[in-house]
Amino acid sequence: MIIIYGTKIRKHSVGWVSEFCPICGEITKGNLTELIVYDHVYFIPTTSGTVIEHRSYCDQCGFGTVSDRNSFIGTKNDRIYALEDLIRETCPDIRAKYAMPLKAEENLKLGLTKTASPAQRFEQIAHPFYLLERDFREFFSGETKLDAYGNTALSVVLLVGILGSALCFYFFNNAELFFWTGTGTLLLTALSFCVFLYFHATTKRRFVAGAIVPILHKRLRIVQPTREELESCLEALKSRRIQIASHLTIDQLLGR
Ligand SMILES: [Zn+2]
Repeated sequence: MIIIYGTKIRKHSVGWVSEFCPICGEITKGNLTELIVYDHVYFIPTTSGTVIEHRSYCDQCGFGTVSDRNSFIGTKNDRIYALEDLIRETCPDIRAKYAMPLKAEENLKLGLTKTASPAQRFEQIAHPFYLLERDFREFFSGETKLDAYGNTALSVVLLVGILGSALCFYFFNNAELFFWTGTGTLLLTALSFCVFLYFHATTKRRFVAGAIVPILHKRLRIVQPTREELESCLEALKSRRIQIASHLTIDQLLGR
């Protein structure tokens, strides 16, 4: 008997706060969320879990910034509050706290960093890739990951197999119907399994396109790298074993 056990992480929303988002480069509304690690047996929790980190998920870009729970004087239970209200009631001194990065972002948006050195430009362009590498590695760590396409395809494989087997059993006393039902079941199962393998093999590509690229686009619109800068940045990131760099193309990053 195989016993499936281990640890998993679940997310629990604590409330809305104001937080500095490194992708948007400004103070935004954030959904403060606990990341709770818990033990499970057959995916049924056996412990209440331990909070290992708080993240604030930006309402503009969706990126989760690691947050210090104790830096907020309170939380609000809804995102409808105006940003200034959230700042006043959750972290009134947030602009002073992030004065330096806010100033750097202001200069970046005003184009005052055009004279930055190549090393500084690299840091500006590479920064969001490093941030999003965390999300990529988290999503694909541990057990095999399937998205909605993979799960649907796997369900079809199982359904075809079960229904076909049931029909074969039903036609067991009719040699001709048994043969054709069995052959059809085998072919359909093989076909749907090939479709499943395709969706399984392309899970990373879809995750990157759906969850990574839109956030990168938002950040790169602010940093405004040239094609040449992006090409050299991607190559450098690949040599530094940043995994998402191997799943991205320049045209994809430039939105073409
Ligand atoms: Zn953001």
